[in-house]
Parts: sequence; C-alpha cells; structure tokens
Amino acid sequence: MSTTETSVAKHWIDGQWADSDEHRDSVNPATGEVIGSYAMAGPKEANAAIEAARRAFADPAWRADRLLRARVLNRMADRFEERAGDLVELLGRENGKTHDQGRLEVAFAPETLRFNAALALTDTGTNSQVTDGELSMVVRQPVGVAGIIAPWNSPVALGIRSLGPALAAGCPAVMNLPWQTAQTNSLIAELVGETPGLPPGVANTITGGHVSGDVLVRSPDVPTISFTGSTATGKQISAAAAANLKRVGLELGGKTPLILFEDADLEQALPIVVSALIVFSGQFCMTGSRLLVHERIADQVRTGLGARLRAVNVGPASDPASEMGPIIDEPNVERIDTIVEDAISQGATVIVRGGPVTDGPLAAGAFYRPTLLEVHDNSMPIVQDEVFGPVLTMQTFTTEAEAIAMANDSRYGLSASVFSRDVDVPLRVALALESGSVWVNDWARLHDQFEEGGFKGSGVGRMRGFAVMDDFVEFKHIRLRPGTTPAA
Ligand code: NAD
Repeated sequence: MSTTETSVAKHWIDGQWADSDEHRDSVNPATGEVIGSYAMAGPKEANAAIEAARRAFADPAWRADRLLRARVLNRMADRFEERAGDLVELLGRENGKTHDQGRLEVAFAPETLRFNAALALTDTGTNSQVTDGELSMVVRQPVGVAGIIAPWNSPVALGIRSLGPALAAGCPAVMNLPWQTAQTNSLIAELVGETPGLPPGVANTITGGHVSGDVLVRSPDVPTISFTGSTATGKQISAAAAANLKRVGLELGGKTPLILFEDADLEQALPIVVSALIVFSGQFCMTGSRLLVHERIADQVRTGLGARLRAVNVGPASDPASEMGPIIDEPNVERIDTIVEDAISQGATVIVRGGPVTDGPLAAGAFYRPTLLEVHDNSMPIVQDEVFGPVLTMQTFTTEAEAIAMANDSRYGLSASVFSRDVDVPLRVALALESGSVWVNDWARLHDQFEEGGFKGSGVGRMRGFAVMDDFVEFKHIRLRPGTTPAA
C-alpha cells in the first residue's frame, strides 16, 4: 500500500471524484516499475455508485430525452478522439500494449460512442393494426441501472462497448473497471464523466475487482449486467445473477481456429496469422490460437511461420520498434509457461519454443516470446483451453469436413478465420463453423453496425450491431382500442 503519493487514480461517482481507504501501486509490466497509485473499490464504493445511478434513473432527465443522450454520446466521442494519444501512452505504460496496438484499441471508443448516439435516435419501435380498427405497439424502455464489468486486456474498447449502448438506451451505468489498468481507468472516467451535458450519477466508474464486481452482480438495484471476461467467471456471474432473475450479457473467452486451406495465399495469410497471435501479446479473446493447416502445405507453414515468429521483435511500448509488448504480469508468464511445458510433456512437438525472456534488458519485465507447438490430438488441454498468451498450436487436416469438425470440437465459439482463394469453400465453411464471427482471408475485423459475440461457452447475447440494445431495454406491448363509438 502506498502512503506518500501525491496523485491517486480515483473513482468517478455521482459526478465527482471519489477516493477509497485502500490505495495500491500501479506497475509497468515491461519494467516492474511503480508508475502511480490508485484507490481500490470495495463494497462501499460499489454501493455508492449504484445508489447514484439509481437516483439518476429516478430522474427522467436522461432516460426521457433521447436528443440529450445522442448529443452527449457524440461529445464523449470527440473527447476520446482528442485524448487518444494520452490513452495510447497510458495503455503502453500500464497495460504493455505497443503504441500501434494501443491505437487499435483506442480507435474503437469514439466509433462505438457515435454508433450508439445514432441508436439513441433510431428507435422507431413497431406497431400493427392486428384487428381492424385496433392497434398494437411495442415501445422499448430502459431497464434501469446497468452494471458493467470489463477485463484488463482492453479496458478502453470493452468498457465503452458496454457503456455506449447502456447510455443510449437510457440506463445509468456503473462501470467496474479492472485494478490492473487503474491509471487508464481514471482517464476513461474523466473523459466520460466530465462530458458536458451528462447529468451526475448517469455514468459512474470504479476501479475494482471481483469484490466490487460481485456487489453489482448481486444488487437488486442493478437489473442488467454486461460482463466481458473469462468463461469461468461468466458462469459464476450468471449463477449469482439468477438469484434476482437479472439479465446478463456475457462476452467470454475464445479459442479461435485459423484454417489454412491448400490454396491459401501464404504470403498474405502468414503475416495475418502472426498478428492474430501477437496482438495484445496473445491476451485477446480473439487471439488466433489454433492453426489448422491442409497437410499438403504443412511443411511450408512450419518453415515460413516458424521463421516469422522467431523474428517477432518483443519489447516495451516505449521502443517504437517493438512488435509485441509484455504479458500483464509475472504470474501470468509463469502460468503460460506451465501450460506450454505440460503440453510438451504430453507429446506436443516444438516448432518455436519462445517462452519467458530471462536475460538481457527485458529480463525485469513480464515478456514471453511467441511459441508454436504441433499437436495431433484435439482433446489435449493446450488445444481445448484458453491460454491467453502468445501460444499457437498447429494441426493438419486432409479434408474440408475434417477441418470443420476439428474447428468445432471446442467448448468455445467466439471467432474463426478461413484462408482460401476459392469462392465457394470459405462461405461454405463459414456457415458450418460454430462461431459468432468468421473472417475470410482476414482476422479480428469488427464493425459497430455488425453483431459480435459468442456461440457455446464464448457467451450469451451480442455486443455491437442492433442486437446490442437488447441487454438494456424492456419491450412493452401496448394494445389500443380507440373509442368504441361507431363512426357517424
Ligand atoms: P476474469 O473473468 O478473470 O475477470 C474479468 C473481470 O471480472 C475482472 O476484472 C474482475 O473485476 C471481474 N470479476 C472477476 N470475478 C468476478 C465475480 N465473481 N463477480 C463479479 N466480477 C468478477 O477475466 P480476465 O482474466 O480479467 O480477462 C481475460 C478473459 O476475458 C479471457 O478469458 C478473455 O478471452 C476474456 N475476454 C473476452 C472478450 C469478449 O469480447 N468475448 C474480450 C476480452 C476478454
């Protein structure tokens, strides 16, 4: 615990900064250095934020004025654009992201906010003359206080991905952002909270963890939870939320297969495979972690991909030449390496060993070099479990049906990539994959107007797209029988 700090990253509750009794240190994962301190939320802060949001919902100022909501969301988008450089810098220092990868994350925020500003204005509802002379209509109304829980791997993009639709729908929100990115959270809180026109209590931000998150999940005053995180936590949240029959939107883990067919353009595909593994140091829900390769191009891939992965320039965000930053912390480096060691002892063949960086100038940081293992058994833990690090398995197939079966033999179903120069094969395979997103000759391309989310253990509900509002609104059917007097 720090006691001498002059500036502490704080929470934003009811339109003002709020401190906590407990302060902790923020650490740069590339160097191990303390870069600041932050207030850590517990039940007290979570309950204060819920109470502020509950009061904001009772006042119709926000929920009844969609023009205000759209204006404020657009202003918020401007603010995220104006301070994008500062967010990128903080993500580099605190989250380990290279500046290119930080820019990738930060660019989502204004786009998402603008899309949600538009959604606030395009709610036309439905109506129908079901019986002659009598009308039915459906109106959408905000459900109440939204609890938002986001993980440390992309707090800017993922916090805003849930906050935008909540605010657009008219729901005040409490965002529980992760302690690992407290300094970044504080800038998010400033950009959101100080947006001109935003009423106090409508957007509250606390920095916490599972204790404050659990308060949101269990509170009877929070009727909807928008959670992004691991599948294991998603299941716990779903079970706890059931006690109050609250709705939960869950964006969970993934085990993205990248399928390389025989006719794939490898010059184009292999750099994309490398990006799919190293963006955010493999700590991305959509990290390409299972490479399925047609057996006739397997040798080319082993050699070509192996060379590319060995050449990845691992280093801190402060070095513009870095292509991949550190892992979030040292315990995660050890966790990842144990998984790799176990896989090797279970029969995986090493193509590129990668692993922790233990000497030279990077040794003080939590660095892990990209790793490529070849496996033949789809049931191995390294193939079935999310590693959440830069570790790729490679398997070979001979037929399209075999590739589809291997890709679908997974608890997860978040995303997949298919590489082929054919016209028919990619679409046929995309339709057969049990996956919320499928990219053809590409990876991780997301747009706010198209739904994003998981099949199977990768989630419930959808973020982005028009379906995003469903987590935050009640549908109300109103039946009208106009005056019973017959027309003269
Ligand atoms: P996690 O599930 O351990 O924690 C996520 C957040 O939930 C934490 O920051 C914590 O504050 C909170 N939390 C933890 N336990 C809780 C509980 N019992 N009740 C309430 N809140 C609780 O995940 P993580 O390790 O922080 O993030 C990595 C995971 O997130 C990976 O599995 C990754 O795939 C997934 N993820 C999914 C998406 C997506 O869009 N599908 C995006 C990013 C990350």
